Formats: sequence, C-alpha cells, structure tokens
Amino acid sequence: ATPTALLVGTGRGAQLGVLIRGPEVLERTRRVDTVVLDKTGTLTTGRMALRGTVALADLPEAEVRRLAAAAEVDSEHPVARALAGGPRIAEDFTAVAGGGVRARVDGAQVLVGRSGWLASEGVDTAPAATAVRAAEEDGATAVVVARDGVAVGVLAVGDAPRAGAAEAVARLRTLGLDPVLLTGDAEGPAAAVAAATGIGTVFAGESPAGKLARIRALQESGRVVAMVGDGVNDAAALAAADLGIAMGGGTDAAGAAADLVLVRDDPTLVATAVRLSRATLSIIR
Ligand code: ADP
Ligand code: MG
Repeated sequence: ATPTALLVGTGRGAQLGVLIRGPEVLERTRRVDTVVLDKTGTLTTGRMALRGTVALADLPEAEVRRLAAAAEVDSEHPVARALAGGPRIAEDFTAVAGGGVRARVDGAQVLVGRSGWLASEGVDTAPAATAVRAAEEDGATAVVVARDGVAVGVLAVGDAPRAGAAEAVARLRTLGLDPVLLTGDAEGPAAAVAAATGIGTVFAGESPAGKLARIRALQESGRVVAMVGDGVNDAAALAAADLGIAMGGGTDAAGAAADLVLVRDDPTLVATAVRLSRATLSIIR
C-alpha cells in the first residue's frame, strides 16, 4: 500500500462525506463482512414524538405527561425529546444509560424509563404491562412513569426510519455484507424498523454492556465487524468493533470512539465507505 494512494483514498472519502481517521482504517474497512447498526438515531431519525398516553392509578393523562416532562428536562436521550418541557421543577436528576431517568418532582420520587429498569428499581410494573405490550406491538417505544414507587402511566413514543435507511441496507447486501440490527429498545419497535429496512437479524433489549458482548460474540464466531452508532450507549461497542462508524450528528462519545465519521448522517455512506476502501486498495495492490 503506497502512502500516496491511501492519502488519495482518504481525501476522496472526505469529499464524499466520510471522515477517515488514518490510512490504516481503509484496510480494515475492506475486510469487514458484517455491519451491525444501532436503531435510534442511526437507522431512524432520533427525533422522537409522543404517540399516546395511558394513565394508571386514577391520574389524569396530563399529569402523567407533566411528571415525565419535568423529570426528563435535563436528559439528552432521544426519548426525552418527545417528553421533556415545561418549567424546570425537577431536582436530584440522574440518568441511567439504557434505563431511564430519576428525579424529584413536587417532593415525589419520579422514575421514567424502560419497564424492565423500573422493575429492577422495585416498581411493580404489572399494572403497566397491557399498555406497554400494546405500544410495543404498534412499533412504539413504551415509557413507564412511576411516582413514589407506583406505576402511574405509560407513554408511547416513536420516530421514523431515515430516508436512506432501507437503501443503505440494500447497498450493504449488494456488497456482500451481512446487516444486523442492535438496539437497547424493545423487540416490538426493533422488529418494526428491521421490517422497514429489510434487516433479518435483530438483537433487541441490549444494555450498553450487552451491545459490547454481541460485537465480541460475532468476532469470536469469525466475523469482521463494523458497528454503526450515534449514542453514548454505543461507544463501547464502537471501540470494540473492527471498524467503528459514527453518525456525524451523534454524541461526542460516539465520534471519539469511531474510526470513520459520516458527516451527513446518511446511512448509505456506510456502503460508500466500503466501496471506496475496496477501490483504493485494489489500485494499490
Ligand atoms: P437505543 O439502543 O435504542 O439507543 P438505549 O440503550 O439508549 O437505547 O436505551 C434503551 C431503552 O431504555 C430505550 O429504548 C428506552 O426505553 C429506555 N430509556 C433510556 N433512556 C431513557 C430516558 N431518558 N427516558 C426514558 N426512557 C429511556
Ligand atoms: Mg442510537
């Protein structure tokens, strides 16, 4: 590999919207056979909107939304985009990656997040189960709201696949690469995005550590793995993958952990990067 050819490839990448962090990255890109894609913010827009509210425990729906909005006000998670707002009345805010948020609102302890996380925090989530299932079968992300340890409501939120998502997956297949969906979200919303984009292999409900373990397991089975993600929750998986690819509009943590950055947030650029690496390196050889 002549340094000049690699530099030309790197420069061509920049023109196409793919920032390549060092010439050796092109060689690794060429060897990839499996492309693992995060869901929210990578295959989808990450611009989540509220789709519905179910109130439990005789609380008005508006009060469920008010509690969630107050608790999520300092969260950077895409789910919070659909919920946060209103006056800043929350105190003692903490975010739990892959789980949700905890805050004190009007003197009450409020938890907002994934049903399984609330259950692990001692909340009885049985009263929320029917609404959670209905939202997830609909392809939405179900967010449970608890006040002082009692489930008081379920909010359904969702975003849409990016315009280029299905084409991005089709192009990967054309290049002989195997696409895999990997998400912290539940099986229902994961299956909806997999169907919309044409992905057959889905790993859902994975914590950040679980995402990392999935990458390692694929590597141990002999795969050369690229991981595409945007979130803090993807950073460990991006670093462990043979090739880490970050969406340009993603978090700083994802960008720092990646070998390639897609400047336009366009998932079809993943295939563009692979084609560029093949072209550059076949000229060199
Ligand atoms: P993803 O892989 O889809 O980006 P994460 O690992 O960030 O998902 O989170 C997994 C799940 O945890 C989310 O789908 C959501 O249900 C829940 N969750 C995480 N953060 C929040 C939050 N701030 N508010 C509500 N729910 C959250
Ligand atoms: Mg994401």
